[in-house]
Amino acid sequence: MPLYEYLCEPCNDKFEVLRTISKGADPATCPTCGDNGHRVLSVFAAVSVGANGEPVPAAMGGMGGGGACCGGACGCS
Ligand SMILES: [Zn+2]
Repeated sequence: MPLYEYLCEPCNDKFEVLRTISKGADPATCPTCGDNGHRVLSVFAAVSVGANGEPVPAAMGGMGGGGACCGGACGCS
């Protein structure tokens, strides 16, 4: 699922929401004031799921593909 970044203008605060692509264009509720933040496109990170079920940014998770700490180089896996 992609991670979308939103900007809340009343707070001037940025927050991130993990949601499906079909919901990506929808407004997101600001966690600080409850107003609707609008989406900003400066940071767009595709997120995959790591070995333990945690979200992993593709830029990091796509490199090793092996062990959790080193990609297999140290024998941890
Ligand atoms: Zn806000």
